[in-house]
Amino acid sequence: VVWELFKLLQYPGTELNVKLIGIYCAVLLICLLLLVFFNYKSYMASYREGYSICADGRVNVAKHLRKLSMGFYNTKDPGTIGSYIVSDFDNVELLVTHLLPQIIGGLIGPLVMIISLAFFNWKLALIAALVIPLAWPMVWITRKLIAYSGKKQQKSKNDTASRVIEYIQGIRLIKAFNLNGTKFERMENSFRKLKQDSIRLEAGSGPTLILATFVLNASIPLIILVGFYFFTHGEMTLPVYILFLLLGTKICEPLMQALMFLGLATYMGLSVERIETLRKTPVMPDGADTGKITNYDIEFQNIDFSYNNVPVIKQLNLKIPSHKLTALVGPSGSGKTTLTRLIARLWEVDKGEIRLNGKNIKNYPVDNLLSCISIVFQDVTLFDNTILENIRLGRKGATDEEVLAAAKLANCEEFAEKLPDKWNTNIGENGCALSGGERQRISIARAFLKDAPIILLDEATASLDVENETAIQEALSRLIKHKTVLIIAHRMRTVAGADKIVVLSDGVVAEQGAPDALYARNGQYTHMVDLQTESQSWAI
Ligand code: ADP
Ligand code: MG
Repeated sequence: VVWELFKLLQYPGTELNVKLIGIYCAVLLICLLLLVFFNYKSYMASYREGYSICADGRVNVAKHLRKLSMGFYNTKDPGTIGSYIVSDFDNVELLVTHLLPQIIGGLIGPLVMIISLAFFNWKLALIAALVIPLAWPMVWITRKLIAYSGKKQQKSKNDTASRVIEYIQGIRLIKAFNLNGTKFERMENSFRKLKQDSIRLEAGSGPTLILATFVLNASIPLIILVGFYFFTHGEMTLPVYILFLLLGTKICEPLMQALMFLGLATYMGLSVERIETLRKTPVMPDGADTGKITNYDIEFQNIDFSYNNVPVIKQLNLKIPSHKLTALVGPSGSGKTTLTRLIARLWEVDKGEIRLNGKNIKNYPVDNLLSCISIVFQDVTLFDNTILENIRLGRKGATDEEVLAAAKLANCEEFAEKLPDKWNTNIGENGCALSGGERQRISIARAFLKDAPIILLDEATASLDVENETAIQEALSRLIKHKTVLIIAHRMRTVAGADKIVVLSDGVVAEQGAPDALYARNGQYTHMVDLQTESQSWAI
């Protein structure tokens, strides 16, 4: 159109070709409509794809996290692990749905324009394109800087998240002990560090980025001046010059935008890297033996185990006979809880073998192994859901009747019936609406529902008041009937009826045997029993 209009100026006397201009305008209109159509299509596609990539990715990462050994969690802050699923995928989302389309558009647009202009005058087009390779080193440096300080900033961000979680989880303690000094300071420091790192991230990459835009902008005066020279020296006609002036300025604008987005994309790309590293973290190897487990004898053979290279279990040998009640006692920190974790393969042994049904537990798929084990932990984990659903976690797909039956066996009825919505009462984040004993009964109900042949009880009644304890003792006695049971107990009288007592001391079996015989030996067990009998007469 510009060409046709300027013909009048260049060759006075020619007539305006209205028809041709009309056709051009119609073509432009069609182009515009196509543009709108494809824009809409690509917009929808990139968003739909972007969000579904992230939804699937999150599910996969969550699945992967479940398969990792607890050793992985011991070395990471909760904030870091949370960020894998939440903020890292937010970044990937932004990258896929916004940044990549923008960057690709911002690069292809100018490229097409330069090629088109080259048809009219390749020399000037080349000069206009010259700024791109000149700006590239600056872009490269910017990306390096962002990658470097971005990593630091993301670490600070995760630290901040961890500190906030710590602060909120410990809020009761912080209030009670007036700890707003120390704990709050830790959190405040993490905020300050995040601020610093964020400023460094922006400020560090700023100068090179600005320099790069400066170089890109240089194409405009270049086109004006060199174009004018070409025009006055007969190298090109006025309409072509005008065309260059019109389009030439449009070359660097999308490029500059692409540049800005490229910086952001580098930062977001760090999240992709982190997710990739996580996905490459090896999961616990799954065994292939899907044969049915029929015998529930558990045997520890020369087990060595350490947390972060601190040995906790040393050359331990122990038999837990099937269909018997074995009690594990011993001083705090002797490794009792650790043994239950090893049986359930929450952690992997360093040396030796734990055998079940005569085979190393590593031979079984983890899911198969766990399907024969119920664990009642001392600290119960509940989810923000109804009582019914919290119990149903014991066995997916159990009917309401089955869940209720299990709940009754665990003595949950007494408190659940009193709640406003009875069994459908929402118990809040980690069951904060319930007392310790009530929470414990829910976890026992889960074990009833699961009805696994092996039951591991870790000091399930240690921190309860007398009334609760009786209710729970009752429930537990029902639960462990005819099962293979390993019970960790603090109160010696609760294990007086065990078939076998094992005294663990500093990661080794100090003594073991039937309660009466063991008491008669006058060893550690005798000492522990006597000490507790003595303390029962203690009063304020
Ligand atoms: P018990 O249950 O007999 O009181 P545990 O098995 O809980 O003892 O702990 C044994 C030792 O292992 C303790 O010294 C404890 O500090 C250490 N420990 C327990 N859990 C961890 C963990 N997740 N990371 C590092 N050390 C741990
Ligand atoms: Mg313990």
